[in-house]
Amino acid sequence: MKTRPVKPSRTMKRFGSRSIALRPKPAQKTYTPPKCWNGPFEFFNLPPELRDHILELIILDWDTHNRDIVHLFLTCHRIYAEAAAIFYREVYLDNMHLRGTADPFLTGTITRVAPRQYVQTLTIRFAMKDQIYLFGESYGSALREMVEEGKLQRLQLEIGSRFPNFEFWGIEDETSSCDDIRVTGKQGEKLVISAPRYITKTPFQNFLKFLEESNIPKIVLYVDADDHSKFWCLFHRAHPSGKRCEGEWISATRVLRIQWQSLVKVLKGAQPVKPTKDC
Ligand SMILES: [Zn+2]
Repeated sequence: MKTRPVKPSRTMKRFGSRSIALRPKPAQKTYTPPKCWNGPFEFFNLPPELRDHILELIILDWDTHNRDIVHLFLTCHRIYAEAAAIFYREVYLDNMHLRGTADPFLTGTITRVAPRQYVQTLTIRFAMKDQIYLFGESYGSALREMVEEGKLQRLQLEIGSRFPNFEFWGIEDETSSCDDIRVTGKQGEKLVISAPRYITKTPFQNFLKFLEESNIPKIVLYVDADDHSKFWCLFHRAHPSGKRCEGEWISATRVLRIQWQSLVKVLKGAQPVKPTKDC
């Protein structure tokens, strides 16, 4: 009996020279359970957002009795940098107790572990007479560095002393009394105002220069609100009603925000009407 080869039907699809049906089945793999131990957990393998969240949970719940925070900072440079960026994000320096000396936080060269390079928002409360000169000297350069080499974005300055009493200018200073001072009005006109002669002196004028020439993205200036009508009404936001302030409508707040651009425009280059030998 003769056998004939089967003629392939037209519907049989061919791939290459052999049909699928003729392909050998792939060898079955044996199941291997996943390994339970993959080596030590790498903290830095986590995305930055998760690392920040973990560090915030540790750092923001910190209290003075918890020494773990110190150990965290001492782990390595990389952990220090990430932890410091959270810990020093907002810093408040109350310098009212410092008499003519700079705050150690803002002095010294900026190094890889200097805390001030991590500050984004810095608030300094200071006494006018004792410390305003620092902005024309060491504070000026320190703050400039904190922008160029660090993260500083916002500087809040709070003049803590009242105006213009002995706490403000110093009780024995001859500049504490008010005098007729020639200034430039907001529209560029020449004005004479009653103000302490101190605003014509180098430390105050250098402070205005610092405000005007600083590279800090945002500066906010506050003064004591209690007696602002004696001097600062010229420089704060106008009342929406257009009424004259007289120190009443905004005095509920402890501090008053000053439009420092107006302060610079009006008081820069201020001169006493009657020059004396010490001017
Ligand atoms: Zn006012």
